[in-house]
Amino acid sequence: PAGAGSEGRRRRLGIMGGTFDPIHHGHLVAASEVAAEYSLDEVIFVPTGEPWQKAGRRVTSAEHRYLLTVIATASNPRFSVSRVDIDRGGTTYTIDTLRDFRAMYSDADLFFITGADAMAQIMSWKNVEELWELAHFVSVTRPGYRSEDFGRAENISLMEIPAMAISSTDLRARGQAGDPVWYLVPDGVVQYINKHKLYQAGPGARPSDA
Ligand code: ATP
Ligand code: MG
Repeated sequence: PAGAGSEGRRRRLGIMGGTFDPIHHGHLVAASEVAAEYSLDEVIFVPTGEPWQKAGRRVTSAEHRYLLTVIATASNPRFSVSRVDIDRGGTTYTIDTLRDFRAMYSDADLFFITGADAMAQIMSWKNVEELWELAHFVSVTRPGYRSEDFGRAENISLMEIPAMAISSTDLRARGQAGDPVWYLVPDGVVQYINKHKLYQAGPGARPSDA
C-alpha cells in the first residue's frame, strides 16, 4: 500500500535541502549518517529554486545544480532528487518545501536534515513552530559551526557525524583558482563541472587542473 514500508510501518523519509552549488561529500555523508541512525527508507535531496533577486552572488542555474545532485546520488538506491523547489521557482523557503512534501507524502514521517549552520538560521525565523509540526529536524555537526543545544525544542535532534570540512563556497573558490576538487566531490561531479566549465574564472584564466 502507498506509504507503507516493507514491514507495513509508516514510511520514513529524509529531506535534504540545499543549494548544492555544487553538491559535495559533506552533504552525502550527512544524508547517509542520518538515514542509518533514523532507519530512513529514503533520503530525497531537494535543490533550491533560483532566487528572483540574486542577492550577493550568482547562483549556478537550477538545471546544472539539479543534474549535479542527480549524478552524485544516482548510485545509492535510497537516495533520490526532487524538483519541487526548482519547479516552484524563486527563493526557496523551508516551510514551502515541507508543506509540499506533507501533501505529497501524507502518510510518511518526514525528517528534515540540516547542518548546524542551516539549523541556526531556521531557528532565527518567525513562526518556527509550524515547521516542527510538519517534520522532525535532525541537525548534524559541521566543522566551523557551533552545534547549539536547542533544549526545549523537542522536534529537533542533534547528531554527531564524521567531520567533513568541505563547503560549496570553498569548492567554487577552488574552481576560480584552478585548484583541484577531486575527492571532495564524487568523480561524476568533477567531470560534469569540467564538461560545463562551471566555477571557472573568466577567459584567460589558468585552466582547472581538476
Ligand atoms: P555554501 O557554501 O554555498 O553555503 P554549503 O557547503 O553550505 O554551500 P549548502 O547547499 O548551503 O552547502 O548546504 C545544504 C545543507 O547541507 C545545509 O543544511 C548545510 O548545513 C549542510 N552541509 C553542507 N556542508 C556540510 C558539511 N560539510 N557537513 C555537514 N553538513 C553540511
Ligand atoms: Mg551553506
